Amino acid sequence: MYDVEKIRSDFPILSRQVNGKPLTYLDNGASAQKPSVVIDAITRAYSEEYANVHRGLHFLSNLATEKYESVRGVIARFLNAGDENAIVLNSGTTEGINLVAYSWAMPRFEPGDEIVLSVMEHHANIVPWHFLRERQGAVLKWVETAPDGSLDPEAVIDAIGPKTKLVAVTQCSNVLGTVVDVKAITEGAHAKGVPVLVDGSQGAVHMPVDVQDIGCDFYAITGHKLYGPSGSGAIYIRPERMAEMRPFIGGGDMIKEVSRDGVIYNDPPMKFEAGTPGIVQTIGLGVALDYMMDLGMENIAAHEKDLCAYASARLSGLNWLSVQGQAKDRAAIFSFTMNNAAHPHDISTILDKKGVAVRAGQHCTGPLMDHLGVAATCRASFGLYNTKEEVDTLVDALELAHELFS
Ligand code: PLP
Repeated sequence: MYDVEKIRSDFPILSRQVNGKPLTYLDNGASAQKPSVVIDAITRAYSEEYANVHRGLHFLSNLATEKYESVRGVIARFLNAGDENAIVLNSGTTEGINLVAYSWAMPRFEPGDEIVLSVMEHHANIVPWHFLRERQGAVLKWVETAPDGSLDPEAVIDAIGPKTKLVAVTQCSNVLGTVVDVKAITEGAHAKGVPVLVDGSQGAVHMPVDVQDIGCDFYAITGHKLYGPSGSGAIYIRPERMAEMRPFIGGGDMIKEVSRDGVIYNDPPMKFEAGTPGIVQTIGLGVALDYMMDLGMENIAAHEKDLCAYASARLSGLNWLSVQGQAKDRAAIFSFTMNNAAHPHDISTILDKKGVAVRAGQHCTGPLMDHLGVAATCRASFGLYNTKEEVDTLVDALELAHELFS
């Protein structure tokens, strides 16, 4: 049974007060809180098991290397990658997508070659492609979302033309909560010979992920949204694509030999992991993913689905609130504005007074804000430890804000 009260007790911060009220943490889309097992693993790593990895011949270096390297296997299991060498460890999705842009795309893109993107991408899955546009004349081809916020896989596949070299889409919108059928997109794109990058920053948090089943070429995750430390993350890269990539960041660890005249690179995936990594962050991520897998991704998804239906019903009962996006397949992420035009920042300040933490702003999605015709929104994003009572607390706080601004 999914015991949400017991799960909440695993997260020390959830029992604190904010502004004299119990914390209602609904900013999981920005970053999730950490369970004690992760906090303890970080303390243990620094107090008992710390040294640099891959280089020392001494006990602690070997121990830290073993702990750090074992996370590759944990991530491979979490994503069902099949092979842990398909996992490149990094600091998060932003680094993962930049790796693909520099290491895979830059050597292949000619002026006029296209990248197909949805309009609801996060800036992390836009700006690296603008680099390619600025430097190499790549063309960004945008696919709009439907009025309900869903993304039709056929619209993405139809946008692929003879000059398209890559499709890059999110599996779950960090603003609308829309879940995208990335498997259908991948099948359609591959039928046209085009690789697919999936931004799994939000998707992997809310649903079981099987990258082999999706069939995608790249799948990026970011640790701090997965109840792990910030500065941790990974990208799954299909072996054929990894073989096509040249290294992007040069330095220690990614080489076998360096002489005055040349370099012999390390084997992948280490070829793409230069410099001293986020050792302890990565170890913490491994513990966080094990924690999620112990709860069961299916169980987490079922709990959040229930929460999502409840929040949807309660928020849609507020006729002065405009919730952006009503896709059928969605995660519990709700962006909204108030019809009386109160600014999202002011709304979030009122909510904060009630202990309710939400995010306000553009959520790093400029093109989506333009598409929706709004300058900013408030966003309440739920995680594995949130409850229906917290939905009620949110609604009460919104009602108060509505009264104050009316
Ligand atoms: N993609 C999506 C959909 C996100 O929500 C985020 C973070 O908000 C990112 C990418 C970027 O993740 P990070 O800043 O951890 O690299």
